[in-house]
Amino acid sequence: MSAYLRMGELGQCLDIFQFGPDIMATVWVLFIFLNFDLLLKTGQCAETSGQVLSITPNSQEQVEILKNVSIHYQTVLWQPVSSDYIKEQTQVHLYVPANSSQTVNDLLHRHSITYEVMLSNADEIIEMQMRNDSTDPRSGATFYQRYHTLEDIYDWINRTAKDYPNTVKVILVGSSHEKRPLYALKLSLNNRPNKKAMWIDCGIHAREWISPAFCLFFVHYSLLFYNQNQAMTQILDNMDVYVLPVMNPDGYKYTWTNDRMWRKNRFPKKGTPCIGVDLNRNFDANWCTRGASDYPCSEIYCGAFPESEPESQAVANFLRSHKDSIQIYLSIHSYSQMLLMPYSCTMDEAENHSELYEMVKQAAENIRRYYRNIYTYGPGAKTIYLAPGGSDDWAHMLGIKYSFTFELQDRGRYGFLLPPSHIQGACNEALTAVKTIALKVMEKSQASTSSRQTV
Ligand SMILES: [Zn+2]
Repeated sequence: MSAYLRMGELGQCLDIFQFGPDIMATVWVLFIFLNFDLLLKTGQCAETSGQVLSITPNSQEQVEILKNVSIHYQTVLWQPVSSDYIKEQTQVHLYVPANSSQTVNDLLHRHSITYEVMLSNADEIIEMQMRNDSTDPRSGATFYQRYHTLEDIYDWINRTAKDYPNTVKVILVGSSHEKRPLYALKLSLNNRPNKKAMWIDCGIHAREWISPAFCLFFVHYSLLFYNQNQAMTQILDNMDVYVLPVMNPDGYKYTWTNDRMWRKNRFPKKGTPCIGVDLNRNFDANWCTRGASDYPCSEIYCGAFPESEPESQAVANFLRSHKDSIQIYLSIHSYSQMLLMPYSCTMDEAENHSELYEMVKQAAENIRRYYRNIYTYGPGAKTIYLAPGGSDDWAHMLGIKYSFTFELQDRGRYGFLLPPSHIQGACNEALTAVKTIALKVMEKSQASTSSRQTV
């Protein structure tokens, strides 16, 4: 993979694509023979595109240099999310925009820090993600295989509610800092009394575009395959589903218009140049302890107090007022392919740890069986690192015992810039996990109801 990516990079250096395809192939082969090693070593060419580098520091000194690069140079850490977590022998994914590429590359070379270019053409991929061929007559069929602007998503919400007036209801759960509405869709496929419910939110973190794409896909799939797919029918017969496609609309909008790498909401902190709170550090679950930051410029800034942000408060209020019916809480993120369960805010085990563990394990096994893709699983704090103030932990503490966070595709090949051609695959995998967990929860509640009846 690394050699392949390097070749792409070298092709860009040569501007090889100005030749015809035959000549290009010849030049390509000659070029590899003559120059590959040399250029691999020097890596000298002025970058015209942002890059994503994968770097594994192998000494404490290299750790410090990387921390310094990620803080003081114009770069964006993709993994880990904050420089505090950079450590020896652990992969760092760093986005380096074109204009700071030369400086950063030189600095890494100077300190003999080796790196692999994961993406040499980030700008091109960003452009590809934003392409919307709405004039394409096939666009209807491929709607769920593309990314959409916030306006398109609002239109889609209205259209879906209009198309399914008896089964889909739009609920305004709150609004964002910049006064954008937070709409959740309620899917209720029948009128059985005392139905339980599942909540799914997407797009807490603005740059994780695959997440809202999944929420849209999930609603579409549920409505289309009810009475067609057995698992989906069983689930929707037994529970309502609330879907919040974009929990952080201001941030999401900003990733389309200003900064594709934006993560937080758009709260302007008075007296500082810093914008944004990490909504997934803003819930009241060991709020702002180790693993979050009270520094407003940090990517994991926890906010002024728990639920200080209108977006997290809106979701918390809704869950509080529906906690008796909502049995399952799911929050969709990317990337790294993980199925996480509480807790992330402490190393302690949840009281129903083994039950939850069994569910994520089964979900990961099903994904592997059907799609041959590997997802790791376990409690957040032990699987990644401490992350207090998360929505899943808070929901669990509220009493929604089946609470999970999914990290969708991929493992870093494209990271946040997952190409549209991968949306379908990522959504199918997440859907498999949702189905596995929902069916397990139903099985458990039916078993407990019937055991109560026999007693
Ligand atoms: Zn996230």
